[in-house]
Amino acid sequence: MASPQEQFIQQWFENFAQEEAYPVLASETVNALATIIQRSPQSVLEYVNRNFIPTGTITRSRPNDSSSGYSIAEANRHLPPETLQLVEKYVMACQRHRTPNDGRRRVNNGTYRCTYACGYRTKRAYDWRRHEETHEPQELWLCLLCSQTDDQSPFLVNRKDKFIKHVKDSHKEWDYERVLEMSKVKFNPKFDPVCPICAIITASWDDRCRHVLSHYENETMRKAKTSMNETRTAALMGSPKCPGRINTWS
Ligand SMILES: [Zn+2]
Ligand SMILES: [Zn+2]
Ligand SMILES: [Zn+2]
Repeated sequence: MASPQEQFIQQWFENFAQEEAYPVLASETVNALATIIQRSPQSVLEYVNRNFIPTGTITRSRPNDSSSGYSIAEANRHLPPETLQLVEKYVMACQRHRTPNDGRRRVNNGTYRCTYACGYRTKRAYDWRRHEETHEPQELWLCLLCSQTDDQSPFLVNRKDKFIKHVKDSHKEWDYERVLEMSKVKFNPKFDPVCPICAIITASWDDRCRHVLSHYENETMRKAKTSMNETRTAALMGSPKCPGRINTWS
């Protein structure tokens, strides 16, 4: 980062950030700074973290973490008791701690890595987000048709595609879109606003996912740039076809 840009950040930090945003900056602030000095949000953040934030102050659980103190039962008191019981059981099973290799699949590669440390990796952003939601469900469907029968374990799931499949398989006579709509649980999910990579505060689950994905995408871009430079250097250094000076008069 060039020095006028550094000075700008320094000035801004002294004037505005020290008290309110310290030690974690909101993503809008970083984005705004990045736009003003025409650098990537990542480089702003790295610069601020390196220069202004003492090591060790960025931790995942802080006392004012808005997701701390969340309890499924508290946040979902409005649900009927039987529904709440099912929801609680389902969500707690999702949130259970998984071992570092739990999420690894036979083919397990790609830029996008699980932020809940289960080892899952994928090449597709869509699959990544869907996987994150297996740890922290954000939407739930409880099949209303199964619930109305004597079924002791009505179908409850956090994936829309799986729910639609359930309706198509088990309740063929119904319009699946209607069952989907009727079965959506008014669920208040847990959301930890702190980015697990840079500790920035995000505004919503959507914002969090977009932000984490941008880390992975920047990483891919950086890698591509490095490998392009390496290829170029290798070509310049070792080109065997360089003709040199051709002696035409010997
Ligand atoms: Zn995972
Ligand atoms: Zn059903
Ligand atoms: Zn981040």
